[in-house]
Amino acid sequence: MNTDIQRLYHELIIDHGRHPRNFGSLPTATHQQEGHNPLCGDQILLALEIRDGKIIDLRFEGQGCAISMASASLMTQAIKHLSLEDAKDLLSRFLALLHQEARAETDLENLGKLAVFQNVSEYPARVKCAALAWRALEAALAGNSNLITTE
Ligand code: ZN
Repeated sequence: MNTDIQRLYHELIIDHGRHPRNFGSLPTATHQQEGHNPLCGDQILLALEIRDGKIIDLRFEGQGCAISMASASLMTQAIKHLSLEDAKDLLSRFLALLHQEARAETDLENLGKLAVFQNVSEYPARVKCAALAWRALEAALAGNSNLITTE
């Protein structure tokens, strides 16, 4: 990757870290899942509204380092309106990227903005930061979550 692209990616993480998108509570949530990364002190609470096999809406709350917040922010943008199947597919591809299993250019293209986390895989301690929101999503989709109901 050339330096211009690296700088652009760095700015994307700073921007989303400072101004996370889809941040806040979600009164219509059907699922919620807490995630902690004790190594860095990152904490998030992910809330999703899932209806008819589709992620209608999602938001997160919490605090942590720029990477954990940016990752959660970009995740919410990436999976909003996806079917559960597509969300799980993206989840596995993103985790593969973090664990350096997705180096092919086509994989990066399919990940869109999420490819910004490519370089994080070189820093094992930061991988946990970038993976936190996604691990929470994984648990929520697997039904390991604290199920809540709006009924
Ligand atoms: Zn962190």
